[in-house]
Amino acid sequence: RVKQEGGNGYRFFTPEMNTLTAGRLEMESGLRRALEREEFVVYYQPKVDLENGVIIGAEALLRWKHPDRGLVSPGEFIPILEETGQIEQVGEWVLKTVCTQIRSWQDAAMPSLNVAVNLSGRQLQRNNLCTTIARILEETGLDPRFLELEVTESMLMHDPKYAVDMLMQIRAKGVVHIDVDDFGTGYSSLSYLKRFPIDALKLDKSFVDGLPHDEDDIAICQAVIALAHSLKLRVIAEGVESDDQLAFLRNNGCDVIQGYIVSRPLPADAFAQLVWERHQNPLWFAEKFHPRM
Ligand code: C2E
Ligand code: MG
Ligand code: MG
Ligand code: MG
Repeated sequence: RVKQEGGNGYRFFTPEMNTLTAGRLEMESGLRRALEREEFVVYYQPKVDLENGVIIGAEALLRWKHPDRGLVSPGEFIPILEETGQIEQVGEWVLKTVCTQIRSWQDAAMPSLNVAVNLSGRQLQRNNLCTTIARILEETGLDPRFLELEVTESMLMHDPKYAVDMLMQIRAKGVVHIDVDDFGTGYSSLSYLKRFPIDALKLDKSFVDGLPHDEDDIAICQAVIALAHSLKLRVIAEGVESDDQLAFLRNNGCDVIQGYIVSRPLPADAFAQLVWERHQNPLWFAEKFHPRM
């Protein structure tokens, strides 16, 4: 309700604020029960090697199956999980779910796949992250080479010395694939970049969007690819949607792509199905690989 302060006309609460708060509180309480009600689900989006068109892995992307609202996207609820601290528990659930899933694909003799899990800043800041990852690998019996981790630039630069140390510890457990997500949107110190034990830079969608026409985006994409390669890192382009973008990235030496042009993020079974189909038909990408120029 609107509350009027007598005299000076100040309004402490507006109806809009009330709805916002109510909606937010409802989200929070819904999220608090979501784990036990098994409302979280992991989707998988393929990553394709531009050298040969092979699906080499996936990025694991969290979804919330809300009982009334349907699938809720992580942009809406991850920030809340971060604020309430619940991200630690949910993040652990994602890691466990993904490691279990990779194992079961391996048991089903699927082609070899790496799956990347997004870490949140709060998870990285917990000094037991390394122990948690090691325990999950142990429990699921997964070879750590198949688990990939994504951390953002800003997470690394928040406390670079600590991040170097933490990632070194994780790497020592055999998790050797660590990617810098949303690269170019934050601020990275180049001197630190070479000290982080990282494996790949993910070229942010916001730069891929302008390809192949926007001159600034062209310059940025080429610079990031050159930078990565000179540091012996791979480049993964995200948000690739069109044949033109794909051709540009391939012609400019990008290593891996991810985006709607290959597939949207899919439930585990649909993803597995896609991997089988593409595996049996390796020429599916040829048309895109040799664009008419
Ligand atoms: P991100 O890690 O940068 O993930 C890429 C996002 O781009 C995903 O959005 C994906 O669906 C979207 N995307 C991929 N290809 C295309 C494309 O061709 N076109 C368009 N328009 N979009 C594309 P999503 O799934 O909504 O995830 C958003 C963000 O939420 C992620 O960004 C990541 O930062 C965060 N997130 C997702 N899952 C998790 C998780 O398990 N843990 C944490 N901490 N964060 C997560
Ligand atoms: Mg990511
Ligand atoms: Mg990203
Ligand atoms: Mg992004």
